[in-house]
Amino acid sequence: MRLLLVRVLLQAVRPGTRGCAGVTHKEIRVRFAPSPTGFLHLGGLRTALYNYLFAKKHGGVFILRLEDTDRSRLVPGAAGGIEDMLEWAGIPPDESPRRGGLYGPYEQSQRLNLYHEAVQTLLESGAAYRCFCTPQRLELIKKEALRSRQTPRYDNRCRHLTPSQVQEKLSKNLPHVVRFQLPGGAHSFQDLVYGWTHHDVASVEGDPVILKGDGFPTYHLANVVDDYKMAVSHVLRGEEWLISTTKHLLMYRALGWQPPAYAHLPLLLNKDGSKLSKRQGDIFIQHFVQRGHLPDTLLDIITNCGSGFAGNQIGRTLPELIQQYNLQSTSTHSALMDLDKLPEFSRVHLTRWIEGADTRVQLVAQLQSLLQETYKDLTFDKDYIERILVLRMGHLNLLTDLLSPNYSYLWVRPSVRQEDLRRISSEAREIGSLVVQILQNSRHDTSLELLSIELKSRLQQLKATKYSTSMKLLRLVLSGLETGPSVAEMMLALGPEESISRLQKALSS
Ligand code: GLU
Repeated sequence: MRLLLVRVLLQAVRPGTRGCAGVTHKEIRVRFAPSPTGFLHLGGLRTALYNYLFAKKHGGVFILRLEDTDRSRLVPGAAGGIEDMLEWAGIPPDESPRRGGLYGPYEQSQRLNLYHEAVQTLLESGAAYRCFCTPQRLELIKKEALRSRQTPRYDNRCRHLTPSQVQEKLSKNLPHVVRFQLPGGAHSFQDLVYGWTHHDVASVEGDPVILKGDGFPTYHLANVVDDYKMAVSHVLRGEEWLISTTKHLLMYRALGWQPPAYAHLPLLLNKDGSKLSKRQGDIFIQHFVQRGHLPDTLLDIITNCGSGFAGNQIGRTLPELIQQYNLQSTSTHSALMDLDKLPEFSRVHLTRWIEGADTRVQLVAQLQSLLQETYKDLTFDKDYIERILVLRMGHLNLLTDLLSPNYSYLWVRPSVRQEDLRRISSEAREIGSLVVQILQNSRHDTSLELLSIELKSRLQQLKATKYSTSMKLLRLVLSGLETGPSVAEMMLALGPEESISRLQKALSS
């Protein structure tokens, strides 16, 4: 049977608000609640980021809660990895397993007593019941449904056990789970993104398990209990959970609790509309970190696909994202991300980082340690590294570009063969001594522009060799390359002394 979802246009302002969608006078508390069944990927980072932006925009609190009740699917290292990646991205939680907080613990596996209490309340009021159906019986129901082309659903048989039947089974220690009794006639609710939504869950699903045989809660119960106990005011989560929200609201009603506001976020997809693939490992945040991407680049590209902002624009920083973010601008269309544009995003953000005084210091330190790893016995001083970064600004996508063979001349002297020099120009020696003169007379703080002009005017006076040939020769002497940055830039990068020494060495023999 098809699920019935009635959508009514988003009513922007809920009763009792300040005029911003769903933002009431009570404290804003939002949470990112991943299951540590895998490492953080771009889709998860985007959900976390929207929660962070919403919290920071409204002076609220951003919580990280680990939903680790499915013990069979836990991935070692994933829990710590998720928090590491949020910190790396510059969106650290205010309350989390690592940081603690007044509403902890922040891992569901350590909150079992709270779920058991809620289950007890639901059992006592009759909103939940114990189910003793065996796995074999459940499997049979499933097979029969599939055979008659129906969606499998539990037939709610144990709803009808009498108290004495339950007691009898309990006294025999029969294994059992607890199910929530889905009442008919679920109410519609107003999602802050998708608008009015109605899903008559009891007509399409069997009663869901809320407490498993191993004493662990299922997602639905633990999620409701924790959002309530952690005083979460707004739930911003992936659109795939929209369909479960009615079930959650029915549990709130049964427990007599006030639910949070809900805003479901459209999925993040590839630009052709296909699912982001986790298989190749290339959407995991760790992968981008290892390749030397900046956090700002990722935050920018995942928010540059239409949701939560008035328009798309490359180059927004985190403070700009916070300032410009508006939940009401979240569309219900899937967000199509163009990862082919990553190099462009990277270049823009690396340029900004080089321009900023504090961020430049960080880049210099990072590059220094990367160089140390690559050129083990050599050391490079900070001023030199900084000069290179400033000169190459706008040409680099990643800091690690500077470790490629094309840039090795910056870190080690190239070996240049005499016959190559002579092949380029018979006037090699003359060109060399002219440039040495220019460098000896140039001011130590000469600009790229002035040095270029000077080289051009002096070298053009040489009659026999064309200017472009002189440049080719000089580039080869300085870097071992035939193409690359301008000769003037290479000289400024290396500094006059090193440039002179490379010229003299190559051209004197
Ligand atoms: N543990 C769920 C997930 O990993 C959380 C869903 C929610 O935010 O309610 O997606």
